[in-house]
Amino acid sequence: MRASKKRELDLKDFPPGTVTEYTTLVCLACIFDIFTKQLGLAPRSAFTEIKRHAPAIEELTARQAMRPYFDSDDKNPHCPYCGSAKRWLARLDTYCIEGGKTTDAARRTLLKKLPKSDDQFLIIEKKSDSRAVFFEWLDTLGGNLDFADEKWLIDATQMYLARRERKTNWEEIFSELRAVRRSSRLNEGWEHDGGRLFLAPDLYSQALLIQYLVSRSHAHGGLTLEGRLTLMELVRRLRHGGYLDRIGITEREPGEVFEKLIDHLASTHDWSRVSAGGGDKKRVSTGSGSDRVDRAKKSTSKKASKKPKKSSKSQKAKVSLPEPEEVITEPVKLHYIVDRRDFLEKVKSTYASYAA
Ligand SMILES: [Zn+2]
Repeated sequence: MRASKKRELDLKDFPPGTVTEYTTLVCLACIFDIFTKQLGLAPRSAFTEIKRHAPAIEELTARQAMRPYFDSDDKNPHCPYCGSAKRWLARLDTYCIEGGKTTDAARRTLLKKLPKSDDQFLIIEKKSDSRAVFFEWLDTLGGNLDFADEKWLIDATQMYLARRERKTNWEEIFSELRAVRRSSRLNEGWEHDGGRLFLAPDLYSQALLIQYLVSRSHAHGGLTLEGRLTLMELVRRLRHGGYLDRIGITEREPGEVFEKLIDHLASTHDWSRVSAGGGDKKRVSTGSGSDRVDRAKKSTSKKASKKPKKSSKSQKAKVSLPEPEEVITEPVKLHYIVDRRDFLEKVKSTYASYAA
């Protein structure tokens, strides 16, 4: 039994940033307590009920775990509610896979490999949208950054680029990176020069926006490569650089601009990867700026000359007239996999001692 504890799912076939992992602990002493004392069940019936327990996704992925769930990084955790020791605690791992062309095949393969008996794994589908997915991504990003170290600005930029451009080996590029700069030369895309990464103005603007968004709860205003910025200052900067015009945001009021900026960033297909026709997926964009990066990438890669075919929808996106109404949230399907294996084992072993 012990040997089987280290059983991580193999997720290497999923592009970076498409799977979010959550781990939470649950106290079986607390659960048994609820079922026997509060609900008055006999231990045997409680055992049967608990084995069937299918936690809600909200319980498993909540920032703040609620009894009988709790989070702990401790090697020898104790239940914060009743003080029970490790053997009473079961671990539940939850994987959230964003549906879409880039993950569908890998997901099907993975699901086929999972054992089916006793509901060792629960598969739950949830409808979401690009905006919610974006904020979830931001939240996860924020949790993984070390804000005490200034390097987080560069790390956040890397995560953003990895999310937008999956085919580039950003790990390698960023491994020796010392600075991220706004390019005065490039119109699109990026350029890597030793320790420096130059981003075209729009991409740079987006990086600032991400930095602002991810740090605004940690600081008054938000921290960016350009220092601490209030929302007003950020919007002014983006307007001056022409970014707002280029993505068709005509609003003046900073709050409204901000909302549009978020919708634009979130609905870019690179983010949500809603299936929209094979390798052409990024072409079907809802905002005039969303195919920019993709084209830019072509221009910096070897096969620069070949222009991908445009879908009819994206031709619309090419029109330079602002079309802010086009920026909408898009549906995204989320596939949750809940690993109940440790839970089932612990329920059995604790029941044995509980009933004894
Ligand atoms: Zn407990």
